[in-house]
Amino acid sequence: MHDELLRALPAPACAYVYDTAALRARAAMVRQALPSGASFLYAVKANGNPAVIAALASVCDGLEVASGGELALAVAAGAERIAFGGPAKTDAELAAAVAAGALINVESVHELRRLAAIAPTPPAVCLRVNRPGGGLQGSHTMTGTPTPFGIEESQLGEAMRIHGVTVIGFHLHAVSNNLDGVAHAAFVRDSLAWSLRTARDLGIALQVVNVGGGFGVDYLGDASMDLSPLSDIVVPPGVDLVFEPGRFLAADAGAYAATVIDIKTTHGRTFAVLRGGTHHFRLPAAWGYSHPFTVVPVDEWPHPYPRPSVEDCLVDAVGELCTPRDVLTRGQHVEALRAGDILVFGRAGAYGWDISHHEFLRHEPPAFLVI
Ligand SMILES: *Cc1c(COP(=O)(O)O)cnc(C)c1O
Repeated sequence: MHDELLRALPAPACAYVYDTAALRARAAMVRQALPSGASFLYAVKANGNPAVIAALASVCDGLEVASGGELALAVAAGAERIAFGGPAKTDAELAAAVAAGALINVESVHELRRLAAIAPTPPAVCLRVNRPGGGLQGSHTMTGTPTPFGIEESQLGEAMRIHGVTVIGFHLHAVSNNLDGVAHAAFVRDSLAWSLRTARDLGIALQVVNVGGGFGVDYLGDASMDLSPLSDIVVPPGVDLVFEPGRFLAADAGAYAATVIDIKTTHGRTFAVLRGGTHHFRLPAAWGYSHPFTVVPVDEWPHPYPRPSVEDCLVDAVGELCTPRDVLTRGQHVEALRAGDILVFGRAGAYGWDISHHEFLRHEPPAFLVI
């Protein structure tokens, strides 16, 4: 997608490209699809690059953060609203969140007690709840199943007896990378109904129902979750229905590019060995899938020796690390591929660089190009 930009990099190229216009376009698409009365916060953990955060802070309703580091970035980006979640917040992080005016999603009764003791005046909070059901298909299911996230429904009564905080709603983030928009809409409707019922039972004046993120993209093709089933959800008056998409906003705005250093065949498999790899883009290895690439041909070959090349061939795209697990793509067909060409892995803007083990083998980091 950014062929000329990549060819202009010093060889061998290795870079992430983040496209801020694509970020803004995706945010506009989300806003258009969500029902009236809903808002959406960008989940910073998908991509914490300050330029990405700044671009999304200006077009989303705010940012969702999950650490003191992300909180500081969100404050620096001038986020209008900040939600702060995470199962192991320290006292210092809680204090910083209170000082920043963030809405804290409290994950346990103990955390609620600590927050009440820290805050100078009772802060408004949401309780993150791990409901008995209401789960969704996707990766990383986080509710209706044993996890470190949220408070079990049976403990909500105990949570409500803690003084020094004001509970104004619930946080019900349940899944990651869901591709089924109809199922997601059903989950949101069920979350609203449960929240209204539970708030009534517990005597909470319900202001916020945060249904988290989880809008999915299909890495094997170019499909994404269809958001249109969300449009006609009816948001109860006085309630802010909050979504926290990360992947859906950032994935398509990023590409990871790496030059082919060598091409070789051993025991019947052909490998394109890259200047780069899973220490920059861990997602395919972490999830165990094969991430598709496109080829940016680079015609110059200034060397006197022959250029490694293959035609009409299946190749594995592998990295520069000294481990056989450094694999980005298995068995993708190429018409033609030469050492010196650049492979581009699209949809790498979310959970790409941010989840990778950068220091392993101490190679130079990639360049970061923000356009
Ligand atoms: C990770 C996370 C998100 C974002 O999830 P995506 O799958 O990227 O949309 C939102 N909210 C919370 C609480 C999270 O932990």
